[in-house]
Amino acid sequence: MASIAVNARFSATTCDRKTTEICRETLKSFMGLRKTSQNASISLTQSLTTSTPHFNPARRNFTSIKAGKSSPKVTGRNLRVAVIGGGPAGGAAAETLAKGGIETFLIERKMDNCKPCGGAIPLCMVGEFDLPLDIIDRRVTKMKMISPSNVAVDIGQTLKPDEYIGMVRREVLDQYLRERAEKAGTKVINGLFLKMDLPKEPNAPYVLHYSAYDGKTGGVGTKTTLEVDAVIGADGANSRVAKAIGAGDYDYAIAFQERIRIPDEKMVYYENLAEMYVGDDVSPDFYGWVFPKCDHVAVGTGTVTHKGDIKKFQVATRLRAKDKILGGKIIRVEAHPIPEHPRPKRLADRVALVGDAAGYVTKCSGEGIYFAAKSGRMCAEAIVEGSERGTRMVNETDLRNYLEKWDKTYWPTYKVLDILQKVFYRSNPAREAFVEMCADDYVQRMTFDSYLYKRVVPGNPIEDIKLAFNTIGSLVRANALRGEMNKITSL
Ligand SMILES: Cc1cc2nc3c(=O)[nH]c(=O)nc-3n(C[C@H](O)[C@H](O)[C@H](O)COP(=O)(O)OP(=O)(O)OC[C@H]3O[C@@H](n4cnc5c(N)ncnc54)[C@H](O)[C@@H]3O)c2cc1C
Repeated sequence: MASIAVNARFSATTCDRKTTEICRETLKSFMGLRKTSQNASISLTQSLTTSTPHFNPARRNFTSIKAGKSSPKVTGRNLRVAVIGGGPAGGAAAETLAKGGIETFLIERKMDNCKPCGGAIPLCMVGEFDLPLDIIDRRVTKMKMISPSNVAVDIGQTLKPDEYIGMVRREVLDQYLRERAEKAGTKVINGLFLKMDLPKEPNAPYVLHYSAYDGKTGGVGTKTTLEVDAVIGADGANSRVAKAIGAGDYDYAIAFQERIRIPDEKMVYYENLAEMYVGDDVSPDFYGWVFPKCDHVAVGTGTVTHKGDIKKFQVATRLRAKDKILGGKIIRVEAHPIPEHPRPKRLADRVALVGDAAGYVTKCSGEGIYFAAKSGRMCAEAIVEGSERGTRMVNETDLRNYLEKWDKTYWPTYKVLDILQKVFYRSNPAREAFVEMCADDYVQRMTFDSYLYKRVVPGNPIEDIKLAFNTIGSLVRANALRGEMNKITSL
């Protein structure tokens, strides 16, 4: 969860000089973030420009050029936009387009798609996307962070009575967002997007090829084409839209998850509680989780660096939680890539990528649902604005406004989480220090605020100083622990 990761920015505490450098940078980032203003984000953005080759907003000029008013009027109809993929990114994009006067098509290959996912969403998503409470299975108010040596730290004591992390089933959330897009005027098509012909002339249409499923022609569907003025690729990690525009590849983690139905009396423990396990056994570069769902728990883990060992890590995660899931029955096994980095290219002409197709999952926490929905909406808003509510053709400049706004808003978050992953998921002693820091009330408050509200919160200078001392303490202990661990492993 992002919360944990964000709070860890405080506890940048490991041993060697390189790590200290990273820690310093992380804390610096944090200070920059907590200035709360847009300017703070920009200065951080600019100060960290050199290390991320593909995702570097500071290289761009943030002075956005207003919509191309010279673009031609669309006559006799409104602007036509296709959204490929009906996950959170696609559903949110289509709804915004349709409400903004765009003739909108949403192509989804599987209407009851049950995306492999932990399903944790921040509280702000419920408000910002006006989600009804009955689609939220569980309200998590307690979280246990469990260290390699099984020291468990309770997180969540600082939450206010109405604060929680939402747990959703993706088939429910995605369907809800798609239906809302349809009510707003989107034409929802059940079909598999295959490829598209790019326009050869300016303002000429994109020709999309897809297999339409009508429930009558069986599995293969009917080959169909659709002409549109612009395309939003919301088709997830294996995006065909990304391929069609030569967007390039990204690093990815493989995530593995088992849905386990556990006895009712065991489920009581997980009623409003989630667990995160860290350690070399469960993942060398990520974490293992037990998240509560409506009538079962989701147990999973992920890794970028050791994909071939994912099943071994999964077994270890299950073993760590074994007493609590004893007697459970696996009802579903699922695996899926999680992007680890934005694609080298996220737009071309009148095609833009959003959500996982663009690569918007945060490192360290693996959070992507909110960012998918948010990027879908932001991209659609740029199209609505650029096209003057569907009355003009859009161009690349209009779509670039979305990218610039996105990078300006979220680039610091991605960068900080990237650094945190490098610092805290690199060795068991670092993870022990990380878990220890999570016990701090102040850290927890800052963490949850950052995760739940996706906003940067002003800190308290006195608490910051206390935290600095705690950080040094953890550093010393982590060093000592590492020494002991080395002794043990060299026996
Ligand atoms: C195991 C696991 C656990 C996770 N846990 C969490 C979590 O707890 N919290 C969190 O925030 N994030 C989590 N994530 C990340 C999150 O699932 C993604 O970031 C999020 O689903 C991205 O949404 P999206 O709409 O961009 O893409 P997706 O959800 O992947 O949606 C893409 C949609 O496009 C459709 N599609 C694909 N190709 C085509 C095509 N050719 N034609 C038509 N339709 C197509 C698919 O059927 C799908 O409905 C997890 C990921 C994994 C793998």
